[in-house]
Amino acid sequence: MMGARKPVVEVRRSQRRRRTVSAYRDGERVVVLIPAQFSRAEESEWVDRMLARLAAREGRLARSDAELRARATRLIKLYLAEHGTPAVPASIRWVTNQNGRWGSCTPADGTIRISHRVQDMPDWVIDYVLLHELVHLIVPSHNARFWALVARYPKSERARGYLEGIAAASGTPLTD
Ligand SMILES: [Zn+2]
Repeated sequence: MMGARKPVVEVRRSQRRRRTVSAYRDGERVVVLIPAQFSRAEESEWVDRMLARLAAREGRLARSDAELRARATRLIKLYLAEHGTPAVPASIRWVTNQNGRWGSCTPADGTIRISHRVQDMPDWVIDYVLLHELVHLIVPSHNARFWALVARYPKSERARGYLEGIAAASGTPLTD
């Protein structure tokens, strides 16, 4: 096995938390959020547990990038066929470090990243998020041509409503 470096862990204690613990990766660091009243022993136990959980989650994400690619290929064929190569991403993957956006795209190098927060949503919502980013490869800005292409997907409006609902409920202003 290659040397698995132990990540730099930053523990943040929160007065508002009672029992819930969460962790996320922030660049090279892992931030672990724990309740303020946890003892040192509880802290260390939970840090180990959350690192294991994060590693498992990332392993799962890595495996499903291929599935994401297959999904994109199908959407391009269905809705963007006449655009050919420009609509095909150079790279497409799930990411865990993107909490303020459902998906993002860099037209210059053809890369698409989809937030892991979308992973447990219904298929028709994942398809919308993906198609949205695929269309950005052809039209970078949110202009009329962009929305006309997105609207080819029949559930676009419904999916946008679904995502707005989630963003409002979580209190996070998510952008697309
Ligand atoms: Zn967009």
